[in-house]
Amino acid sequence: MTHLGNYKLVFLGDQAVGKTSIITCFMYGNFDTNYQATIGIDFLSKTMRHEDTTFRLQLWDTAGQERFKSLIPSYIRDSSVAVIVYDVANKQSFINASKWIEDVRAERGNQVIIALVGNKPILFIEGKQNSKQVSIEEGDNKARELGALFIETSAKAGFNIKPLFCKIASALQGTE
Ligand code: GDP
Ligand code: MG
Repeated sequence: MTHLGNYKLVFLGDQAVGKTSIITCFMYGNFDTNYQATIGIDFLSKTMRHEDTTFRLQLWDTAGQERFKSLIPSYIRDSSVAVIVYDVANKQSFINASKWIEDVRAERGNQVIIALVGNKPILFIEGKQNSKQVSIEEGDNKARELGALFIETSAKAGFNIKPLFCKIASALQGTE
């Protein structure tokens, strides 16, 4: 068994795309329907096992509000991974994801692993129809262009949350 860590993972993206819900689902395996606007910045620690390696992760949640923007450079400075989340039913949040990725690249260059995450894939997975504004292909293409990992998740359905962190762990292994 190999132990790797401490890796800092920062979660970025517009408000209400599901950053806190993804972290909560991964940490505690549940989905909290009470809306909780994140206040400022703080982190949670979690050890995860992937293949024969354990990873010590620090998950840094943040708010996407403009008023926190000035905090972002110091927040991403020593990050190993940036998880950029958008809401597949909110095209603007997908457009803004490119901006978040640019901000991270400007600060961290290629020293950071970026994961682009399309959350709330309500069509099919959550059983609601026709609210999807961003296709899986659009997400995948943007990620490819910007050198990011890509996955769609549903924090509500607990779908693809573990696979998201497994993808990240594999990429971290590749950097060792
Ligand atoms: P944040 O501002 O990015 O941290 O977003 P939150 O995690 O607070 O989520 C914003 C809202 O979206 C909340 O009402 C959540 O319950 C809801 N939400 C989060 N993830 C999902 C999801 O996968 N599917 C659906 N349908 N709603 C979600
Ligand atoms: Mg939040």
